[in-house]
Amino acid sequence: MIYLDNAATTAIHPEVLEVMLPYLKEEYGNPSSKYYTLAENAKKAVENARRQVADLLGTEDPSEIIFTSGATESNNFVIKGVADFYRDQGRHIITSCVEHKAVLEPCRFLSERGYDVTYLPVDRYGRVNPADIAEAIRPDTILVSIMWGNNELGSLNDVDTIAKMCQDNNVFFHTDATQVLGKIPLTMKKTPANFLSFSAHKFHGPKGVGGCFIRRDALGLKTKLTPLLHGGEQELGYRGGTLAVHNIVGMGKAAELAQQSVHHSSTSITDSDKQLIDLLKSQFGEVIVNSPTENKVPGILSITIPGLNNELLCKNLAKAGIAIASGSACSTTQPSHVLESTGLSIKQIRETIRISTNFAISNIKVITKIAEELRRHY
Ligand code: PMP
Repeated sequence: MIYLDNAATTAIHPEVLEVMLPYLKEEYGNPSSKYYTLAENAKKAVENARRQVADLLGTEDPSEIIFTSGATESNNFVIKGVADFYRDQGRHIITSCVEHKAVLEPCRFLSERGYDVTYLPVDRYGRVNPADIAEAIRPDTILVSIMWGNNELGSLNDVDTIAKMCQDNNVFFHTDATQVLGKIPLTMKKTPANFLSFSAHKFHGPKGVGGCFIRRDALGLKTKLTPLLHGGEQELGYRGGTLAVHNIVGMGKAAELAQQSVHHSSTSITDSDKQLIDLLKSQFGEVIVNSPTENKVPGILSITIPGLNNELLCKNLAKAGIAIASGSACSTTQPSHVLESTGLSIKQIRETIRISTNFAISNIKVITKIAEELRRHY
């Protein structure tokens, strides 16, 4: 099978699986227990993973990493947690209209409970203009949440500028980095975001685990926000619940592997994206590339081919052993709100496919086969 749906999920790396197995078998200790070896081993393994993830995020303080069940939970936690904890300071939140549902839905939930949410428009590549954020910030704004990289288009927002702008205005900034972590080199030393969300399964880790970066405040103190899961004192009291040690260990290894390869892979995958676009253009003539050419997540391509029936094509390609998507795996019943926001018509949305690779298709034969198969099933 040729798997071209890596924005939906990625294959678990064999080395990741390898390090997880002992924690599903003999190393079953609860890291919150004390003194005996099984518990201490589990604790050590969790803290080692926290360091590995902290390294990938470029923070020197691993306690700024909180483990969750994935980006959906992290987004919900930050948005609802900030909204609740700081409700007396203001009830205005700014986000964009192309965010993932895991951001839009908590925002909708809050707007039904008295919060005011501003949804910023985007350009044709799905990017927010930082000047629009400066204009939208009000005295009662408590949070700005703008995704780093878009899951359908691969476009990157200028989060450094946006984060700095929020910092200057004393407003919390959260970014959903689910599609960028492990795919582009980044460091929280350079990007002054307060909160960042991610999921392990997008960078060859296991499903059901992810995390949240929570920056300590200017005095080095813990940033306060209301937990989503009230319970035990795990994760500095941010999230109750026994840690999924095997998953956390797997995510740590995936983070380490991603850090080792991200510089090289981001360049080579970007090159093969360009090759694939050129080939598709030569096969189809008229092709609209919805993803930007520069400043994008390597490996995510959104393409509109006039006359195409995307669902039929994806179905036919599946029979031919090629996995691609018509859009996000998380909202398959409605036309894409992302593509609609970039100005595509309903007809064009039905003519659009997302090809997401995680490897440099350096082999020209493979790229050619993909383009040919698309043409054959068109
Ligand atoms: N945000 C973005 C941008 C995503 O692409 C996804 C996954 N499709 C999520 C959040 C949610 O991640 P998960 O399903 O792992 O919770």
